[in-house]
Amino acid sequence: MTLSDSELVRYSRQLVIGEWSAAAQERLRSGSAMVIGAGALGCPAATYLAAAGVGRIGVVDDDEVELSNLHRQPLHLTPDIGARKADNAAVKLGFLNPEVVIEPFPARLEAANAEALLAGTDVVVDCSDSFATRYLVNDTCCALGVPLVEAGVLGLSGLVMAIRPRESACYRCAFPVEPEPGAVPSCREAGVLGAVGGIVGSFQALEAIKLLTGVGEPLLDRILQIEGASAAPMAIATRRREDCPACGDPAATPVGGVAVEEPA
Ligand SMILES: [Zn+2]
Repeated sequence: MTLSDSELVRYSRQLVIGEWSAAAQERLRSGSAMVIGAGALGCPAATYLAAAGVGRIGVVDDDEVELSNLHRQPLHLTPDIGARKADNAAVKLGFLNPEVVIEPFPARLEAANAEALLAGTDVVVDCSDSFATRYLVNDTCCALGVPLVEAGVLGLSGLVMAIRPRESACYRCAFPVEPEPGAVPSCREAGVLGAVGGIVGSFQALEAIKLLTGVGEPLLDRILQIEGASAAPMAIATRRREDCPACGDPAATPVGGVAVEEPA
């Protein structure tokens, strides 16, 4: 399986990167990603995954484009208001890179459909905007053994972590206590600056690309905390909990937790 002439030109500026290779590009092309949410994180994440050449990308979102989305969701443009986000994202990503397959899933990820949506994909990129969905995605990926990139963004802050189930800490290992509904303000209540979503979502794409290709070192057992206000990124070490209900051994005693490290 070799790269076509148009692929060699399309990806030429990443093919010349020292750490990259034609083999890495081919691994990307034979890989698949499922992006949960086509919003502030999903738009940049899916854009860079499609542009880089991930061969098959699913986009799961049941919302429609609203005027109040546009400041942070750059796949959705003013004429797209009212369109389904999954469908609109698929159209725009198809314009960006017709070499890859984009599959829209205009559905809400729930317990009833999570396994069916996520099974068989090579990496899941969780760009959802609720804790309930985030824990569900984490737990489903742990059960299926599917690598995952988790993230969250609010106001001027965000975080990213990469997860290889049963090899590195999962989201529930790092954050064992699921916040009660309403305990943490939502995007609607606390807002988000679009550029911060761009940074965090782009970082998710980078982590997914690393997981798919083996290039670089994924953010395993680390949480990257991004404080946009102070421009101070901070890597927080975390590790698997043997008693984690999602990825651990139910008979084991508690270990692990979160410890603050020197800034990366
Ligand atoms: Zn875990």
